[in-house]
Amino acid sequence: MNIILLHRDLRVNDNPALFHGTSSDNALVVYVYDKSYWQGNGKSDIQFKFAMDCLSEVSDRLRKKNIPLHIFEGNYENLKIWIEMNFSESTVFMNHFTDIGYYKKSTDKFKRFYADLKRLKIYENFGIQTKNFNRDAWSSDWQQIMTKPILSEIETSSPMVFKNIELNTFENFFSKLTLIKQITESQVGGETRAFELLNTFLKERANGYALKMSSPVEAEFACSRLSAHIAFGSISLRTVYQSLIEAIPNSFFKKDLYSFKKRLHWHCHFIQKLETEPELEFSSMHPMCDRLRSEGDNEIIEKWIKGETGFPFLDACMQFLKKKGWINFRMRAMIMSFASYNLWQPWQKTSPLLAQLFVDYEPGIHICQVQMQSGVTGINLPRIYSVNKQSRDQDPEASWIKSQIPQLNNFSANSIHNAELAETYKEIICDPKASAKKARETVWSMRADKNFKRIAREVYLKHGSRLRR
Ligand SMILES: Cc1cc2nc3c(=O)[nH]c(=O)nc-3n(C[C@H](O)[C@H](O)[C@H](O)COP(=O)(O)OP(=O)(O)OC[C@H]3O[C@@H](n4cnc5c(N)ncnc54)[C@H](O)[C@@H]3O)c2cc1C
Repeated sequence: MNIILLHRDLRVNDNPALFHGTSSDNALVVYVYDKSYWQGNGKSDIQFKFAMDCLSEVSDRLRKKNIPLHIFEGNYENLKIWIEMNFSESTVFMNHFTDIGYYKKSTDKFKRFYADLKRLKIYENFGIQTKNFNRDAWSSDWQQIMTKPILSEIETSSPMVFKNIELNTFENFFSKLTLIKQITESQVGGETRAFELLNTFLKERANGYALKMSSPVEAEFACSRLSAHIAFGSISLRTVYQSLIEAIPNSFFKKDLYSFKKRLHWHCHFIQKLETEPELEFSSMHPMCDRLRSEGDNEIIEKWIKGETGFPFLDACMQFLKKKGWINFRMRAMIMSFASYNLWQPWQKTSPLLAQLFVDYEPGIHICQVQMQSGVTGINLPRIYSVNKQSRDQDPEASWIKSQIPQLNNFSANSIHNAELAETYKEIICDPKASAKKARETVWSMRADKNFKRIAREVYLKHGSRLRR
């Protein structure tokens, strides 16, 4: 018996564990639903809903191949006990994931158990070094993984009926999920949607991508919107990469596609950091930076995450993000920079709250980007975004802001950009210039410490991109 475990690889195409595991007729495909995982750092219902969209399509596609999809409800320790009770000679097939510490801890133990028994087949996912970590060889390793042939379709197996295994079918499990069915505005998951997005992006939407990606108004359509699909594996990164390489020679917007290509490298570059140093989930990359900010102020954090800061552009971004479960890179960076510099709140408290709002939450990217935008990596120059400047640059007429906050319809663009709205809108949460100045001075005085550079060098050797050098 081959037991194939799905986690965030919710696709049928180019899925190594599924491909190799179903090469025998005795294959049991299982999605592990662990409630505690879904309550973990940054996880949320909108992400779970996206995962279930993807799984629905996996279930349909597998059914056509005579392979039922089952759900195991419990953690990996419970799963191990269940496997040993029912299929004590089975082999476990799974793909590797870099995820939150909760997942790592529980699967590391599980994997050790099956590896010792020589009953584990584990496959790589993304372009991450999971063994023989070597930053200098990283780029060539990535290239090698991305250019490997895409796996062909999985075989149809002879119909199998599993009796008395006490596992729910996906259909049964899904029919009981009432809460997430009320989530309607965020992105929909599944392999079909992922391929549609990839094709429309490469053929049309990427035209002007490099410029349009900075604007929250244009980015919604001009960016690929593949992030959630990549995070939940409804398309493999290799498929995205190889389709891109094929599209570039005949494209009229090659520059835009090269810009996109760079980001596919960044995807894995960031996840690699968390893979190499899982402690980054809670500790700053540069350890001295954990001394910068103290406990945090829950009231301030609540106003920030609810989009009640009194700065219309920032509040509009939050309203948009809460509705769509997505916003573009520039605005994510600004939102985070505002929390860490202007409001001076510890990233460990703000990071999970922001992550919960993203459908595409990818812990390796999110946590490392949060640290970067908070000035705690030691290897990136701190950048403090001015919310008022971004407001002016990205939405000069303030029409997008007004579409998110209709209450501001009668105000001039100028008063909206300057957050000067008399008593009619929320009071501003901080003085933007004074708070930025204070933050800049504090961060740079720490960076002047004689030990800072020495430690930063160590951080660079472990995590820094060699391309930049
Ligand atoms: C504070 C903060 C948190 C973030 N959290 C996440 C997250 O949880 N998940 C996530 O996928 N991205 C995250 N990003 C990066 C980026 O904002 C998103 O990848 C991007 O906006 C997703 O939209 P898209 O798929 O249309 O991107 P595109 O512009 O079309 O990019 C294509 C793909 O490249 C990757 N990518 C793009 N930009 C980056 C980047 N700067 N770093 C690493 N990979 C990148 C993503 O996989 C993305 O899907 C974060 C950025 C910041 C500043």
